[in-house]
Amino acid sequence: METTDAFAGLECVDCGAAVGAAESHRCPDCGGSLDPTYDYGAIEIDHETLADRPFDSQWRYAELLPFPRESAVTTAEGATPLVDCPDLADELGVERVLIKDDGRNPTGSSTDRGASVAVTAAAEHGASDVALPSTGNGGQAAAAYAARAGLGAHAYLPSRSGFTNKAMVNVHGGDMNVVGGRFGDAVGAFAEGRDEHDDWYSLRSFDTPYRHEGAKTLFYEIAEQLEWSVPDAICYPTGDGVGLVGLAKAATEVRKLGLTDDLPALYAAQASGCAPIVEALDEGRDEHEPVEHPDTICGELEVPAPAGSQRVLEAIRETDGGGVATDDPDILEAAVRVAQSTGLELIPSAAAAASGAWELAERGEFDGDETVVIVNTGSGNKEADVLRSHLMGQGV
Ligand SMILES: [Zn+2]
Repeated sequence: METTDAFAGLECVDCGAAVGAAESHRCPDCGGSLDPTYDYGAIEIDHETLADRPFDSQWRYAELLPFPRESAVTTAEGATPLVDCPDLADELGVERVLIKDDGRNPTGSSTDRGASVAVTAAAEHGASDVALPSTGNGGQAAAAYAARAGLGAHAYLPSRSGFTNKAMVNVHGGDMNVVGGRFGDAVGAFAEGRDEHDDWYSLRSFDTPYRHEGAKTLFYEIAEQLEWSVPDAICYPTGDGVGLVGLAKAATEVRKLGLTDDLPALYAAQASGCAPIVEALDEGRDEHEPVEHPDTICGELEVPAPAGSQRVLEAIRETDGGGVATDDPDILEAAVRVAQSTGLELIPSAAAAASGAWELAERGEFDGDETVVIVNTGSGNKEADVLRSHLMGQGV
């Protein structure tokens, strides 16, 4: 297996056991989720080194990833724009609002980052097939990267997932399993499928150490695009927690390497119909309690028992951030307002971060001189029907 120089192996998030990189998934001692570790002293990277590289893909930060660019399964994901939105800054009463438009990834979502790194790991481990349950975008991304690597892909998506997600799994040649019900049902069907096929390599969030690892690159880019100043706040739409866990780790790493001085306050944005992380924050708990009847139009956020909740809660508390949940109509309204005032297209689930930013501004969480980044984790095109139906409800 070809790895980068500083990559030191894997560490169990639960029991702290150090595990070699040959281990592919969970901790052999306790079953906890694993996290890549690095010898940071061996990483030679500075502002100038990076400035000399083209801004062309997340693999320009390969020193901070487990695998070198030469062996990466990549379709040039990442390197997405950070767009200034002065009208939104006026509305929120802050100095600057920027939207990190990760909808402009190869399959139209942030999940491409983690899928690229995790499918690279699968190929390095000699897997023939990858499999995962997903709310939608993750399945589409996995099918795309598996196709690129010549691997089989088995995706389990709940029937409520978007048409584009399901269609594109098929288009990439993946095995698309539509599971009646919601995300929990898809997880169950995936577990049954895996029991029958012990050679399937799981790409389920936090089963593989590499999806949350790939999610780190989003923060490296934001920091570099702001010339290595750190935004005061980042609002991130939060489902299973992969994205926010990656953000938090990346922010700590670049500070450790002396590339930045600060950490951003991290805010998890959820929908009121499924907000286990916001509820845990409000109630002062260290872990979520599963949402019994999740119900939101934001399919990517309908994760009633997020596997990453403990780490997300820890990151929010460490960075003095917070959580915010808003109602579906407000979320769709935010998507439309952003589309009409900035020209950018947010997927409804990511519009929860915009709607959440408005709510946080109303609560007085931001100061007038602050810079706020809203992350758009998916292209609005994927769910144009949902966005347009909101307009129809207004009689347009
Ligand atoms: Zn362990």
